[in-house]
Amino acid sequence: MKILRTPRSMAAWSERLRKEGLTIGFVPTMGALHDGHRSLIRAARLRCDALVVSIFVNPTQFGPTEDLTKYPRPITHDRALCRAEGVDVCFEPTPGAMYPEGFQTVVTVPEISQRWEGQARPHHFAGVATVVTKLFGIVRPHLALFGQKDYQQAALIKRLVADLNLGVAIDVRPTIREKDGLAMSSRNRYLTPDDRRAATILYRSFQAGRQAIEAGAKTASTVERIMRKTVAQESTAHIEYLALCDPANLEPLKQVKDRTLLLGAIRIGKVRLIDNMLVKR
Ligand code: AMP
Repeated sequence: MKILRTPRSMAAWSERLRKEGLTIGFVPTMGALHDGHRSLIRAARLRCDALVVSIFVNPTQFGPTEDLTKYPRPITHDRALCRAEGVDVCFEPTPGAMYPEGFQTVVTVPEISQRWEGQARPHHFAGVATVVTKLFGIVRPHLALFGQKDYQQAALIKRLVADLNLGVAIDVRPTIREKDGLAMSSRNRYLTPDDRRAATILYRSFQAGRQAIEAGAKTASTVERIMRKTVAQESTAHIEYLALCDPANLEPLKQVKDRTLLLGAIRIGKVRLIDNMLVKR
């Protein structure tokens, strides 16, 4: 496995492979890799000739009070995981190489960025859209994989790729969970043992919501009330948002539809958890 650290060396490698007619798969990450990332890497490995994983803790998608400096960076572990999964290139640029002096372009996807995560984290999605556009320009993948865990992010990237004709196929893969239902996340390691136990409440609230829909609940407010009551069972959990929305555009729903997305963010202690569940009737 090659470790490439500059955009120039990464772009040159991709250019060479493209000239040979090989297909390039790409999994962008911020590192601290877990089985959620691993599932994207495995799915990509089956579908392309050459596989690139980027590890870049992108400063522009963190707010001023967020955990940028504390974000975990276990690079030796991450490289070993990539090597074991047959990754060809680990792309590890520095912030300085990605944002050199004079950098000023920002990519925004305004409508999708308005609600939910966009409201809670004002500049987050502009940071994501800009870095993904840059990474696609450097890696020039044919295919890129993202997790449903970050549903709004995946929707934004599909929109971005269509709007800017980026020519990258996007595959969104299911959320990988711990045995008790907690969605895997690099941030779960910050949970204290008590908070870790309480953290399953978000998933349990989606299960309660799904059960209500399956039992015939028709209005979003009924289902939402049930989800909120479930989260309230854990006194340490604070709801940021919890909603039923349209899986196509993330607009809030008044009525349950054939496909309804349950979407939520909660805080437990200092840790913010997001998750979602797509419910079909
Ligand atoms: P991150 O390193 O958090 O930026 O995530 C990199 C990619 O992994 C994104 O496409 C995430 O949606 C995806 N991902 C993160 N957690 C999970 C999970 N539990 N299951 C599936 N994909 C995930």
